[in-house]
Amino acid sequence: MTGAPAPKFAAAARVALADTRARRELRAAAAVFGRRRAAVPEPPDWEALRAAGHAIRDAALLGLDAHLERLERAVTQAGGTVHWAADAAQARRVVTALSRAAGADRVVLDDSLPVRELALDAALSRAGITTAGPPARGADPGGEAEDGGGAARVAVAGVDFMVAETGTLVFVEAGDEPRASGGEAETLVAVAGIETVVPEWRDMEVLLQLLPRSLTGERMTALVTCLTGVVPGDGPREVHLVLVDNGRTRVLEDEIGRDALRCIRCRACHHVCPVYERTGGAPYGPVHTGPIGAILTPQLRGVESAAAASLPYASTLCGACADVCPVRIDIPEVLVHLRGEVVESRRARPVPPPELVLMRGLAWTMGEPRRYEAALRRGTRWARLAARGGRIRRLPGLLGAWTDARDLPAPPAEPFRAWWARRRR
Ligand code: SF4
Repeated sequence: MTGAPAPKFAAAARVALADTRARRELRAAAAVFGRRRAAVPEPPDWEALRAAGHAIRDAALLGLDAHLERLERAVTQAGGTVHWAADAAQARRVVTALSRAAGADRVVLDDSLPVRELALDAALSRAGITTAGPPARGADPGGEAEDGGGAARVAVAGVDFMVAETGTLVFVEAGDEPRASGGEAETLVAVAGIETVVPEWRDMEVLLQLLPRSLTGERMTALVTCLTGVVPGDGPREVHLVLVDNGRTRVLEDEIGRDALRCIRCRACHHVCPVYERTGGAPYGPVHTGPIGAILTPQLRGVESAAAASLPYASTLCGACADVCPVRIDIPEVLVHLRGEVVESRRARPVPPPELVLMRGLAWTMGEPRRYEAALRRGTRWARLAARGGRIRRLPGLLGAWTDARDLPAPPAEPFRAWWARRRR
């Protein structure tokens, strides 16, 4: 796909911050979530559940290859078909080919993360296949897709969890986002990131307790659909599972970064993040937003692009996200780790970026006491000349970014070192 490069987080955030109505709505959503959580007391074993969730997701990731093979066997035995996609382009080809093979010129497509990650809406449109959202739950459960065009032949849905033991696909609905979990169509094409597998059915007992409280602040999720293969007379007649890697095995190689794959996509970290609360999701890019997006997107896409490299800096490192995460992902630790990777990747460029030139200059100056003291004297003199009323309002060049949002106090006439030397004399 082509087009203008995505903007850096700060540039995109400036646009979002100008939208005062959206900011009001975000604040209100965070407040509603907070009130709901406060109204539903934490279960007494909440911390034990979080520890269990952490352990279950870690076990799933550390034995991922074996779990995926077990899952493939179970899905196949239950009458489904498994397809493997190394990247988004391959996944799009598989989904398009399956839709065509089913004779569909229109498919029901939900708005889940895997569907957005693969940009399936645009891919199917390019193939001449129209898409419609799944029917809203409630009045007419077996009802028509969003555009009212009648039941479709194919539904394409993002999977939340996959159980290797039984080959079960689990779809979780938060109420206002209907999912296409197969009841709407003859053929279900389920797309899933490979990290969403869990080894055993009993693992879901823990995850389905952690998820609702973190997702909506409630005790139970509106609807959980579990689908195991093809059951004659009940549900879709064909079930295809597309397992998508798209950078995940690379993330798995990174001992610190891989923690991001434990995510169960509850969005609790969004509601407590002071950055997300002000900017909303758009500046993070089209797929993974909030604190988890800030650590997942740069790992899945690499930190070469300016937009992805800016995401690890979209945080105050306050730690609220780690406190609330039901599977205890230490998001600040991964953010700092990724900032290091961004710096390393810049170091390798043939033309060093201005910050690197500045840091090298500082390292040279501070590497020798006399050089450092001479620079300090000159800098103090210059800074006192530039100050008005004891404050410097604007620093020159690159340093100007620092004074964009704050003043700099003028340095004292006598620097600490000079004062110390005088005192000792
Ligand atoms: S990282 Fe965020 S979205 Fe993922 S499980 Fe933790 S709190 Fe939920």
